[in-house]
Amino acid sequence: MRRTTRFCIRLTAAILPLIAPAHAADDPLLRPIEPDYARQWLSPEKPHRLFGNSYSVGFGGLSVVLIHTRAGLILIDGALPQAVRDIESNIQALGFSIRDVKLILSTEPHYDHAGGLAALSRDSGAPVVASAYAASVLRKGGADPNDPQTSILAPIAAVTKLRIARPGEAIRLGGVTVMPVATPGHTMGSMSWRWRSCEGRECRSMVFASSLNAISGDGYRFSDPAHRSQVAAFRKSFAIMRTLPCDMLITAHPDQGRGANCRSYADSAQARLDARLRKEAGAKP
Ligand SMILES: [Zn+2]
Repeated sequence: MRRTTRFCIRLTAAILPLIAPAHAADDPLLRPIEPDYARQWLSPEKPHRLFGNSYSVGFGGLSVVLIHTRAGLILIDGALPQAVRDIESNIQALGFSIRDVKLILSTEPHYDHAGGLAALSRDSGAPVVASAYAASVLRKGGADPNDPQTSILAPIAAVTKLRIARPGEAIRLGGVTVMPVATPGHTMGSMSWRWRSCEGRECRSMVFASSLNAISGDGYRFSDPAHRSQVAAFRKSFAIMRTLPCDMLITAHPDQGRGANCRSYADSAQARLDARLRKEAGAKP
Protein backbone atom coordinates (compact mmCIF):
# COMPACT_ATOMS: atom_id res chain seq x y z
CA MET A 1 0.00 0.00 0.00
CA ARG A 2 2.73 2.38 1.08
CA ARG A 3 4.77 1.41 -1.95
CA THR A 4 1.80 2.10 -4.18
CA THR A 5 1.33 5.54 -2.58
CA ARG A 6 5.00 6.37 -3.05
CA PHE A 7 4.79 5.18 -6.64
CA CYS A 8 1.71 7.32 -7.22
CA ILE A 9 3.42 10.39 -5.80
CA ARG A 10 6.49 9.77 -7.96
CA LEU A 11 4.31 9.18 -11.02
CA THR A 12 2.26 12.31 -10.39
CA ALA A 13 5.42 14.36 -9.95
CA ALA A 14 6.72 13.00 -13.25
CA ILE A 15 3.51 13.55 -15.18
CA LEU A 16 2.39 16.88 -13.75
CA PRO A 17 4.83 19.05 -15.69
CA LEU A 18 3.66 17.34 -18.87
CA ILE A 19 -0.03 18.04 -18.36
CA ALA A 20 0.13 21.41 -16.60
CA PRO A 21 1.21 24.43 -18.69
CA ALA A 22 4.76 25.46 -17.80
CA HIS A 23 3.56 28.96 -16.94
CA ALA A 24 0.69 27.88 -14.67
CA ALA A 25 2.54 28.30 -11.38
CA ASP A 26 3.60 31.91 -11.60
CA ASP A 27 3.03 33.41 -14.97
CA PRO A 28 4.34 36.97 -14.91
CA LEU A 29 1.93 37.92 -17.70
CA LEU A 30 -1.06 36.77 -15.66
CA ARG A 31 -0.12 38.45 -12.37
CA PRO A 32 -3.29 40.18 -11.23
CA ILE A 33 -3.70 43.94 -11.14
CA GLU A 34 -6.24 44.64 -8.43
CA PRO A 35 -7.65 48.13 -8.20
CA ASP A 36 -10.86 48.58 -6.17
CA TYR A 37 -12.95 48.18 -9.30
CA ALA A 38 -11.40 44.89 -10.54
CA ARG A 39 -14.16 42.63 -9.20
CA GLN A 40 -16.88 44.91 -10.59
CA TRP A 41 -15.12 45.19 -13.96
CA LEU A 42 -14.70 41.43 -14.22
CA SER A 43 -18.21 40.39 -13.21
CA PRO A 44 -18.77 37.24 -15.27
CA GLU A 45 -20.88 37.35 -18.38
CA LYS A 46 -21.87 34.50 -20.66
CA PRO A 47 -20.16 34.78 -24.05
CA HIS A 48 -22.79 35.59 -26.66
CA ARG A 49 -23.38 36.72 -30.22
CA LEU A 50 -23.75 40.50 -30.63
CA PHE A 51 -24.70 40.36 -34.30
CA GLY A 52 -23.62 38.26 -37.30
CA ASN A 53 -19.95 37.38 -36.99
CA SER A 54 -19.41 39.46 -33.82
CA TYR A 55 -19.42 38.11 -30.26
CA SER A 56 -18.94 39.35 -26.74
CA VAL A 57 -16.27 37.40 -24.82
CA GLY A 58 -15.83 39.98 -22.08
CA PHE A 59 -17.26 40.94 -18.73
CA GLY A 60 -20.00 42.98 -17.08
CA GLY A 61 -17.68 45.98 -16.70
CA LEU A 62 -15.12 45.52 -19.48
CA SER A 63 -15.85 44.82 -23.14
CA VAL A 64 -13.88 42.25 -25.12
CA VAL A 65 -15.15 41.47 -28.62
CA LEU A 66 -14.44 38.63 -31.02
CA ILE A 67 -14.99 38.85 -34.81
CA HIS A 68 -15.11 35.59 -36.75
CA THR A 69 -13.63 35.74 -40.26
CA ARG A 70 -12.89 33.09 -42.90
CA ALA A 71 -9.19 33.32 -41.97
CA GLY A 72 -9.46 33.25 -38.19
CA LEU A 73 -10.52 35.53 -35.37
CA ILE A 74 -10.02 39.19 -34.53
CA LEU A 75 -10.07 40.03 -30.82
CA ILE A 76 -10.62 43.57 -29.53
CA ASP A 77 -9.07 44.46 -26.17
CA GLY A 78 -7.54 42.29 -23.46
CA ALA A 79 -8.95 43.46 -20.10
CA LEU A 80 -6.84 42.72 -17.01
CA PRO A 81 -4.13 40.03 -16.80
CA GLN A 82 -6.22 37.89 -14.42
CA ALA A 83 -9.05 37.96 -17.00
CA VAL A 84 -7.03 36.24 -19.73
CA ARG A 85 -7.96 32.64 -18.83
CA ASP A 86 -11.64 33.63 -18.69
CA ILE A 87 -11.45 35.35 -22.09
CA GLU A 88 -9.81 32.21 -23.49
CA SER A 89 -12.54 30.00 -21.95
CA ASN A 90 -15.22 32.31 -23.36
CA ILE A 91 -13.66 31.98 -26.82
CA GLN A 92 -13.65 28.21 -26.37
CA ALA A 93 -17.28 28.15 -25.19
CA LEU A 94 -18.23 29.68 -28.55
CA GLY A 95 -16.50 26.79 -30.33
CA PHE A 96 -13.27 28.59 -31.20
CA SER A 97 -9.73 28.51 -29.79
CA ILE A 98 -7.30 31.22 -28.69
CA ARG A 99 -4.97 29.79 -31.35
CA ASP A 100 -7.52 30.90 -34.00
CA VAL A 101 -6.98 34.56 -33.01
CA LYS A 102 -4.90 36.22 -35.74
CA LEU A 103 -5.14 39.90 -34.74
CA ILE A 104 -5.69 41.63 -31.39
CA LEU A 105 -6.89 45.23 -31.68
CA SER A 106 -6.27 47.60 -28.76
CA THR A 107 -8.35 50.64 -27.83
CA GLU A 108 -5.95 52.19 -25.28
CA PRO A 109 -2.81 51.32 -23.34
CA HIS A 110 -4.38 51.45 -19.84
CA TYR A 111 -4.17 48.39 -17.59
CA ASP A 112 -7.92 47.71 -17.57
CA HIS A 113 -8.06 47.22 -21.36
CA ALA A 114 -4.43 46.36 -22.17
CA GLY A 115 -3.27 44.48 -19.04
CA GLY A 116 -4.09 41.12 -20.65
CA LEU A 117 -2.72 41.88 -24.14
CA ALA A 118 0.80 40.51 -23.60
CA ALA A 119 -0.54 37.12 -22.43
CA LEU A 120 -3.22 36.97 -25.15
CA SER A 121 -0.65 37.81 -27.81
CA ARG A 122 1.73 35.14 -26.48
CA ASP A 123 -0.99 32.48 -26.20
CA SER A 124 -2.41 33.15 -29.67
CA GLY A 125 0.77 34.14 -31.49
CA ALA A 126 -1.18 37.15 -32.85
CA PRO A 127 0.19 40.68 -33.03
CA VAL A 128 -1.43 43.50 -31.07
CA VAL A 129 -2.65 46.22 -33.43
CA ALA A 130 -2.64 49.77 -32.01
CA SER A 131 -2.08 53.39 -32.97
CA ALA A 132 1.55 54.48 -33.31
CA TYR A 133 1.36 56.34 -29.99
CA ALA A 134 -0.26 53.43 -28.13
CA ALA A 135 2.18 50.96 -29.71
CA SER A 136 5.11 52.94 -28.28
CA VAL A 137 3.57 52.65 -24.78
CA LEU A 138 2.69 48.95 -25.17
CA ARG A 139 6.18 48.12 -26.48
CA LYS A 140 7.79 49.54 -23.33
CA GLY A 141 5.13 48.33 -20.91
CA GLY A 142 4.57 50.25 -17.67
CA ALA A 143 2.52 53.42 -18.08
CA ASP A 144 2.83 56.54 -20.22
CA PRO A 145 4.45 59.32 -18.11
CA ASN A 146 2.53 61.94 -20.13
CA ASP A 147 -0.87 60.35 -19.51
CA PRO A 148 -3.35 62.48 -17.48
CA GLN A 149 -3.83 59.45 -15.22
CA THR A 150 -0.15 58.52 -14.98
CA SER A 151 -0.05 58.89 -11.17
CA ILE A 152 -2.85 56.34 -10.72
CA LEU A 153 -2.04 53.85 -13.48
CA ALA A 154 -0.88 50.32 -12.73
CA PRO A 155 1.99 49.26 -15.01
CA ILE A 156 1.23 46.76 -17.75
CA ALA A 157 3.38 43.97 -19.19
CA ALA A 158 5.24 44.91 -22.37
CA VAL A 159 3.83 43.58 -25.64
CA THR A 160 6.50 42.18 -27.95
CA LYS A 161 4.51 41.59 -31.15
CA LEU A 162 2.99 44.84 -32.40
CA ARG A 163 1.52 46.19 -35.62
CA ILE A 164 0.73 49.87 -36.09
CA ALA A 165 -2.72 50.89 -37.30
CA ARG A 166 -3.07 54.20 -39.09
CA PRO A 167 -6.44 55.94 -39.13
CA GLY A 168 -8.26 55.24 -42.38
CA GLU A 169 -5.99 52.31 -43.33
CA ALA A 170 -8.10 49.18 -43.41
CA ILE A 171 -7.22 46.10 -41.36
CA ARG A 172 -8.26 43.08 -43.42
CA LEU A 173 -8.66 39.45 -42.43
CA GLY A 174 -10.67 36.69 -44.12
CA GLY A 175 -13.16 38.94 -45.90
CA VAL A 176 -13.70 41.28 -42.92
CA THR A 177 -12.49 44.89 -43.00
CA VAL A 178 -11.99 46.77 -39.74
CA MET A 179 -11.33 50.50 -39.95
CA PRO A 180 -9.22 52.17 -37.26
CA VAL A 181 -10.69 55.48 -36.07
CA ALA A 182 -8.34 57.69 -34.06
CA THR A 183 -10.13 58.89 -30.91
CA PRO A 184 -7.37 60.36 -28.71
CA GLY A 185 -7.98 62.37 -25.54
CA HIS A 186 -8.53 59.88 -22.71
CA THR A 187 -5.12 58.60 -23.85
CA MET A 188 -3.21 60.14 -26.75
CA GLY A 189 -3.09 56.70 -28.39
CA SER A 190 -6.78 55.82 -28.12
CA MET A 191 -8.28 54.11 -31.14
CA SER A 192 -11.84 53.03 -31.90
CA TRP A 193 -12.67 50.32 -34.41
CA ARG A 194 -15.54 49.95 -36.86
CA TRP A 195 -16.67 47.15 -39.18
CA ARG A 196 -19.78 45.66 -40.82
CA SER A 197 -21.54 42.57 -39.55
CA CYS A 198 -24.26 40.80 -41.48
CA GLU A 199 -26.96 38.26 -40.69
CA GLY A 200 -28.35 37.12 -44.03
CA ARG A 201 -29.20 40.30 -45.91
CA GLU A 202 -29.28 42.49 -42.83
CA CYS A 203 -26.01 44.30 -42.14
CA ARG A 204 -25.06 46.60 -39.29
CA SER A 205 -22.28 49.13 -38.75
CA MET A 206 -20.51 48.05 -35.58
CA VAL A 207 -18.37 50.43 -33.51
CA PHE A 208 -16.12 49.45 -30.62
CA ALA A 209 -15.50 52.87 -29.07
CA SER A 210 -12.55 53.68 -26.87
CA SER A 211 -13.14 55.48 -23.58
CA LEU A 212 -13.69 59.22 -24.11
CA ASN A 213 -13.66 59.98 -20.40
CA ALA A 214 -11.79 63.14 -19.29
CA ILE A 215 -10.34 61.91 -16.01
CA SER A 216 -6.91 62.31 -14.44
CA GLY A 217 -4.74 61.72 -11.43
CA ASP A 218 -4.60 64.36 -8.69
CA GLY A 219 -2.91 67.60 -9.67
CA TYR A 220 -3.42 67.27 -13.43
CA ARG A 221 -5.36 70.13 -14.98
CA PHE A 222 -6.86 69.83 -18.45
CA SER A 223 -7.04 73.65 -18.48
CA ASP A 224 -3.25 73.96 -18.11
CA PRO A 225 -1.99 75.60 -21.33
CA ALA A 226 0.55 72.76 -21.59
CA HIS A 227 -2.39 70.35 -22.03
CA ARG A 228 -4.11 72.26 -24.80
CA SER A 229 -3.36 69.52 -27.33
CA GLN A 230 -5.04 66.92 -25.07
CA VAL A 231 -8.26 68.98 -24.95
CA ALA A 232 -8.10 69.66 -28.70
CA ALA A 233 -7.69 65.91 -29.30
CA PHE A 234 -10.79 65.22 -27.19
CA ARG A 235 -12.87 67.74 -29.15
CA LYS A 236 -11.78 66.27 -32.48
CA SER A 237 -12.59 62.76 -31.24
CA PHE A 238 -16.09 63.82 -30.12
CA ALA A 239 -16.72 65.28 -33.58
CA ILE A 240 -15.47 62.10 -35.32
CA MET A 241 -17.49 59.81 -33.03
CA ARG A 242 -20.69 61.74 -33.85
CA THR A 243 -20.28 61.16 -37.61
CA LEU A 244 -19.56 57.41 -37.57
CA PRO A 245 -22.04 55.00 -39.14
CA CYS A 246 -23.12 53.34 -35.93
CA ASP A 247 -25.96 50.79 -35.73
CA MET A 248 -24.41 49.01 -32.77
CA LEU A 249 -22.16 50.72 -30.25
CA ILE A 250 -19.89 48.73 -27.95
CA THR A 251 -17.99 50.87 -25.44
CA ALA A 252 -14.78 49.82 -23.71
CA HIS A 253 -16.64 50.11 -20.39
CA PRO A 254 -20.17 48.84 -21.14
CA ASP A 255 -21.81 51.08 -18.50
CA GLN A 256 -20.63 54.20 -20.37
CA GLY A 257 -22.46 53.16 -23.54
CA ARG A 258 -25.65 51.61 -22.16
CA GLY A 259 -28.59 52.92 -24.20
CA ALA A 260 -26.28 55.22 -26.16
CA ASN A 261 -25.41 55.56 -29.82
CA CYS A 262 -22.16 57.07 -31.12
CA ARG A 263 -23.65 60.58 -31.11
CA SER A 264 -25.01 60.49 -27.56
CA TYR A 265 -21.85 58.76 -26.34
CA ALA A 266 -19.80 61.69 -27.73
CA ASP A 267 -22.28 64.22 -26.33
CA SER A 268 -22.09 62.88 -22.77
CA ALA A 269 -18.27 62.65 -22.95
CA GLN A 270 -18.13 66.25 -24.15
CA ALA A 271 -20.44 67.35 -21.31
CA ARG A 272 -18.09 65.66 -18.81
CA LEU A 273 -15.02 67.40 -20.28
CA ASP A 274 -16.79 70.77 -20.28
CA ALA A 275 -17.92 70.28 -16.66
CA ARG A 276 -14.36 69.39 -15.70
CA LEU A 277 -12.96 72.51 -17.39
CA ARG A 278 -15.58 74.69 -15.64
CA LYS A 279 -14.69 73.11 -12.30
CA GLU A 280 -10.97 73.78 -12.88
CA ALA A 281 -11.82 77.39 -13.71
CA GLY A 282 -13.54 77.64 -10.32
CA ALA A 283 -17.02 77.96 -11.70
CA LYS A 284 -19.92 75.83 -10.52
CA PRO A 285 -19.91 72.55 -12.45
ZN1 LIG B 1 -8.48 54.29 -19.58
